[in-house]
Amino acid sequence: MRRVVRAVIKAFLISATAAGILLGAAYMSYLPGKGGAGATPTRPHASGAPKTSAHASSGAGGRGCGTVRIVVLVDNDRLVKGLQTAWGLSIYVETPNTRFLFDTGPDPSVLKHNAEALHINLSSLDFVVISHCHGDHTGGLPLIGEVKPGLKVYVPAPSGLEGYVRSLGLKPVPVSKTVEVAPGVWVIKPLYGPPWEECVAVNTSYGLVVLVGCSHPGVDRMVEQAVKDTGARKVYAVIGGFHLIGAPMSKVAQEVNGLVRLGVAKIYPIHCSGEEVRHYIRTHYPGRLGVGGVGLELDLPAPCGSG
Ligand SMILES: [Zn+2]
Ligand SMILES: [Zn+2]
Repeated sequence: MRRVVRAVIKAFLISATAAGILLGAAYMSYLPGKGGAGATPTRPHASGAPKTSAHASSGAGGRGCGTVRIVVLVDNDRLVKGLQTAWGLSIYVETPNTRFLFDTGPDPSVLKHNAEALHINLSSLDFVVISHCHGDHTGGLPLIGEVKPGLKVYVPAPSGLEGYVRSLGLKPVPVSKTVEVAPGVWVIKPLYGPPWEECVAVNTSYGLVVLVGCSHPGVDRMVEQAVKDTGARKVYAVIGGFHLIGAPMSKVAQEVNGLVRLGVAKIYPIHCSGEEVRHYIRTHYPGRLGVGGVGLELDLPAPCGSG
């Protein structure tokens, strides 16, 4: 009798799992397709951020494969009340497998304030990635040296940052070619701007999310490199500085059109991107413009099985 009950429970669990898979597949069919300008998902969307939070979505935690959480910790524009702004960039990323910081902003105190306000524990980081040598991206590193001595810091090999990182009690890891630093997280090989600059690509169920610092080599080139080196079939979002303040419209158009050609569904031009690029995207590809700033949070479904 007991065996019968167990068999019934087992059968129920199997059918429940199958139903879950089917539901998951149905849900996936609503996800944005490659290059679809009109394919703006309703969930991972940060414009119209609520008063106290810019959560982009309620997440996909219920789907069983976890969430990739991306939070802008330092930026020159404020999206969420109570956070400090500063000219620079820092983005916190949490996947089911790892936690890391991409750039650190210009100042330890701003990084500390915003991390505390957003309940992000910097001593739980597994590593840091520094995009390039400019102070508005490296200035928060002394705080990391204090809260997590010995932490790995990936830097572009030709950036000249190794000595500085070591002097803070941290462990520099020079990058000269694309490396998968955690399951589904890559540091993309540095390209020359000047200066040498690397970006990070994170795998999600929606596609790749590429984080860029200042994009001195050109944001389209950097994303193209990320696609090539990761073998990703689609890019969901690009977030970061595009270095296009005061740039001629032909250059703005060339870089944005390049991103669109690569199929980027959502573009978040923050930090040093400039109003010109936001205006261009708003005019030509309105469905793809993401509103960013400090406090922006995207909670995206993590891919099952690969992290
Ligand atoms: Zn910058
Ligand atoms: Zn820079």
